[in-house]
Amino acid sequence: MNDFTMPESHTVRIARNVTALSDMLRPHRERGRRIGFVPTMGAFHAGHLSLMRTSHAACDVTVVSLFVNPTQFGDASDLAAYPRDEAGDARLAETAGADILFAPDVAEMYPVGFDTRVSVGAVALPLEGVARGTSHFEGVATVVLKLFNMVRPTVAYFGQKDFQQTCVVRQFVRDLNVPVDVVVRPTVREPDGLAMSSRNVRLSPAAREQARALSEALFAIEHAVAHGERDVAGLEALGVRALAARDIGPRDIEYLAGTDTEKLQPVSRVTGPTLFAVAARVGGVRLIDNIIVAPTAT
Ligand code: AMP
Repeated sequence: MNDFTMPESHTVRIARNVTALSDMLRPHRERGRRIGFVPTMGAFHAGHLSLMRTSHAACDVTVVSLFVNPTQFGDASDLAAYPRDEAGDARLAETAGADILFAPDVAEMYPVGFDTRVSVGAVALPLEGVARGTSHFEGVATVVLKLFNMVRPTVAYFGQKDFQQTCVVRQFVRDLNVPVDVVVRPTVREPDGLAMSSRNVRLSPAAREQARALSEALFAIEHAVAHGERDVAGLEALGVRALAARDIGPRDIEYLAGTDTEKLQPVSRVTGPTLFAVAARVGGVRLIDNIIVAPTAT
């Protein structure tokens, strides 16, 4: 076999534009290698790294994109406050097996004259669609489709933490015949249950304590379902009480809802896989989390 073998230890290469990315990927593509892709907005934590490791284990080459996409932020101050640490991210990505870090600037992604939006239907409307407006998932779908076309991955990896985002991506991949396998990996949590998020670094120590309430609410719901509770309104109320126990009140909660796992429509009973999703502001930081529960056979 005259194919070169990849060295065991490797350094991550940084591509700033599509030409450099294509040049780096060409030898892999020509050899028909599996290209794994992890789209991110940077400020890496263990959740991002688990996606990279999964890709590294399953694919021949792993591309990670780092792009804080302005079009998915409705709130300019949220965009401005989004944590950024490219040098730290490059080091972490390397330890997790990433081969290429694609870090374009805004002008590379949205050159002058850019004028197309990908608009996904029903699944983009509830939950985050209500809380952040319809432009949020248009921004997400548009940038992810652009990134798919730039990287042309075999497989793309996403986290369950952004469950609705995975539904939006699956929808446009199916509808637009995008040749990529979408893999969703479990949410990685801090030891106390808080879902890892780039935004967690913005929590004050007091807000960090309060933030535990989101996963406590979801685990309380999971526990109640395991013990036979099926009434979704009752389960939502249980979750709201868990949030209130850490002083997260109705004005802080954007939603806490039980829905089906396909179109994310409200359900009244847990009769099959059911998503419980929560979004709340904690100490000025917007956090989301979710869990999927199912009735047990007992
Ligand atoms: P972001 O940089 O926040 O856009 O996230 C990039 C990818 O990492 C998305 O697919 C997220 O769903 C995923 N991700 C973010 N947080 C977590 C987590 N705690 N566990 C697993 N995946 C995550």
